[in-house]
Amino acid sequence: MSDAAETLFERIVAGEIPSDVVFEDEVTFAFRDLNPQAAVHVLVVPKKRYRNVGELAAADPGLLAAVVATAKTVAELEGILESGYRVVFNTDADAGQTVFHVHAHVLGGEQLGFFGSHAP
Ligand code: AMP
Repeated sequence: MSDAAETLFERIVAGEIPSDVVFEDEVTFAFRDLNPQAAVHVLVVPKKRYRNVGELAAADPGLLAAVVATAKTVAELEGILESGYRVVFNTDADAGQTVFHVHAHVLGGEQLGFFGSHAP
């Protein structure tokens, strides 16, 4: 984990790195993923950094609830609340987490594929 990966989303929240902002409130920040994996792909972060969703849940469950509520707000703003959306928290190596500032991926705007790679 490089320093850049540790601080990237804090710098985006601070406006030091430009992003396509979708929504912001006192405790959360939502912006479009640079490398979208669906027609709608927005990241939601708590402004305060925790490494992953488990650490966030243990330290501040109210803030985790705020992140999930912002994911719903993003779905409303993007017009996908009725069609449906997926919320994903990649956690550590096997899930492919690359930025160690917890973030919810909000995905939708089209029929999403199945996920995971384990054959049944
Ligand atoms: P994860 O692999 O779950 O840690 O997700 C990190 C996500 O951050 C990836 O989907 C990247 O495309 C996205 N990302 C990396 N840098 C930026 C950036 N500067 N602006 C927006 N999204 C980014």
